[in-house]
Amino acid sequence: MNAQHDISCTHEPECPAPDDLDREAARIVANHPEQGWSLLCNGIVIFEDTGELLPDGRVIAPHRPITTA
Ligand SMILES: [Zn+2]
Repeated sequence: MNAQHDISCTHEPECPAPDDLDREAARIVANHPEQGWSLLCNGIVIFEDTGELLPDGRVIAPHRPITTA
């Protein structure tokens, strides 16, 4: 069972769930570049270094090289 809908996604089609592999494809609903993070509509906070904070509290380590060298 995977029906965590406390975060309401109003997009069509619905954005990926936080547990989906393509969770980063969800739309950004709040962008805070000055603080280095964005909130996706599935509840994930994604940081500019590609680290993620999932709605259930799990932390995903950065997994993409930063292309600013
Ligand atoms: Zn959405």
